[in-house]
This record gives sequence, C-alpha cells and structure tokens, in this order.
Amino acid sequence: MQSIALKDVCMISNSSQPVDYERPVYLSTWKKGLLTTRIKRLNALLEQCRLCPRTCLVNRVRGDKGVCGAGRFPEVASYGPHFGEERPLVGMHGSGTVFLAHCNLLCIFCQNYDISHLAHGSKTSISQLAQIMLEVQSMGCHNLNLVTPTHYVPQIIEALQVALQNGFRLPLVYNCGGYESLEVIQLLDGIIDIYMPDLKFFDRQRSRDYLNADDYPDVVQKVIKEMHRQVGPLIIDHESIAKHGLLVRYLVMPGTSEDELRSIFRFLSQEVSPETYVNIMGQYRPLYKARAVKGIDRVPQMAEYNQARLIAREMGLTRGFD
Ligand code: SF4
Repeated sequence: MQSIALKDVCMISNSSQPVDYERPVYLSTWKKGLLTTRIKRLNALLEQCRLCPRTCLVNRVRGDKGVCGAGRFPEVASYGPHFGEERPLVGMHGSGTVFLAHCNLLCIFCQNYDISHLAHGSKTSISQLAQIMLEVQSMGCHNLNLVTPTHYVPQIIEALQVALQNGFRLPLVYNCGGYESLEVIQLLDGIIDIYMPDLKFFDRQRSRDYLNADDYPDVVQKVIKEMHRQVGPLIIDHESIAKHGLLVRYLVMPGTSEDELRSIFRFLSQEVSPETYVNIMGQYRPLYKARAVKGIDRVPQMAEYNQARLIAREMGLTRGFD
C-alpha cells in the first residue's frame, strides 16, 4: 500500500501486466460520448452540494465545506493493492484500493476513523487522481476500489475520463456506506461495474444515534435496489474474480435484535434478489467514539455473528458468507 506521494506518481501506465479489457461498462458510455454529459451534471451538484442525502447546499466548487468536510479537490489517504478485501475482489494481485479522506456518513464507530473523521490525506488534482488510477492498474490489481467515493463522485468521474484516454481499463468498485443520493447513483449507470454498499441499520433510532441519519434505512433500501437494477447479482469469472454486480457488506454489531436481522436479510433476499452476494462481517471493534457508547462498546459475541448468518440463510440468501 502506497502512502500518497504525488511526486512519485507516473504519468501513464507502462505496465506489461495483463489487464482485463473485457467489460468495464464505462467503455461503451465513454465511446458514446456520454461521460462528458454525466460529468457536467455531477459537477453541477457540487455548486450547491447535493452529492449525498445530507444536502448541505454549500458551494464545494468555491471550496466551501459541508458535513463531510470535503472541499473542491479529492484528498487521498493511500492507494495500492489490498489483500484484506472480499476474496473475489482480491484474487492473486489484490484489489486496487484508493482510500479517500473525509466521509459523508461519519459513523461514530468508524473502523477507518483516521481517514474518515480525522481526514488524513493529501489533496490531489483531477490529473493526479487519474495518474493514481493508472498506477494502480500498472501494479496489476484486478479492479479500482474507491473507498469511500460518495463525496467526490464528480471529481472521480472526471479523473476516470482522463485515465481512460491514457489506457485505464480496470473495473470500478464503488465501495460506500450506502447513504447515497439516488440521483447521483442514477448518473453512475453505465459507469460502475461493482457496487459494494454497506447495509448498516434498519433501526431508525440506531441510525440516528450512531450515524446521525435517521433516514438511513429508507435511503439505503432505495439505493441498493437501484444499484441492483443497474448491475444485477455479482458475476464471478472462472478465475474467481468479481467482474460485475452487487456485493453488500453487513457488519455484525453488538446487540442487534433478531427482528432487525430478519428485516435486513428479508429485504436483501425478497426485495433485491436471493442471489445477492452478502459479506457478513465479524470484525467489529469499538473504535473511535464507540468506546464510550453503551451497547456498542464491546466486540460482538460469536453467537451474535452465527445468528446473523443463520437468519440470512433462513431468508434464502446463500452467497458470500459461507
Ligand atoms: S457530500 Fe458532503 S457537502 Fe455534499 S451534501 Fe454530502 S455531506 Fe454535504
């Protein structure tokens, strides 16, 4: 994993590593000339920022900042091959993660709080971000995994267009907290190959207490349905590499009720698809402010993790957690 050091970023990829040209969906969008229109429409959302449901209405183009704390230009914390992501993203050569500083959701238990809350990162221009994309490709990674892209979508797609002109061809992974603007996700149709949203809570009170977003349950359901409409269930090729589709992450939190688990997995199975690939994650640790919040100040017990898997299976889900 590289720390961001822009002077070291090469201009274009000169890798001899094999790169998968089969199916990044953005290729046909680009060839049809539609990427420029999308960039214009996305940039317009920055002027009175409505990039996420917080709708701060601040002028990000002028450098003003809203809840997420992000300004005009993306800030990158680190980039490079990552081997701790889901197996179909990692393969042999790693998932090409680009960790972006700041976050629109700002969970009080964030497991990456140094990047999201403390915003450790370096400001990059559009062309520097494009160079990072190309460098990640030259490292042989299977995809470009953007963590968390929500508050920088216009800049990322602008950088994508520059990178494309210089030979970039990796599938994009949109790795987010699930608190997205439906309008923005619709503008990403035909650009993103793999959507990887978290599904955090269906409980409004916990969404308010831990995310400061009591509309999170409604938002995340609409957004996941739209993502699935665009890309369908996760497609994994003969070399066990994810190529396209939806991958949902569910982090088991301490004290989650059986009712909430049932609602979450019923939604994924019945309202999205029983083919939904769900990574049920057991690595929650009480970090950042969670250390001082009763109820989430502990590691979940193994029984809680097993209960989540059992209920997912009962609801008809089979992919991603066995
Ligand atoms: S992306 Fe940031 S500034 Fe824009 S609406 Fe969301 S939280 Fe506010």
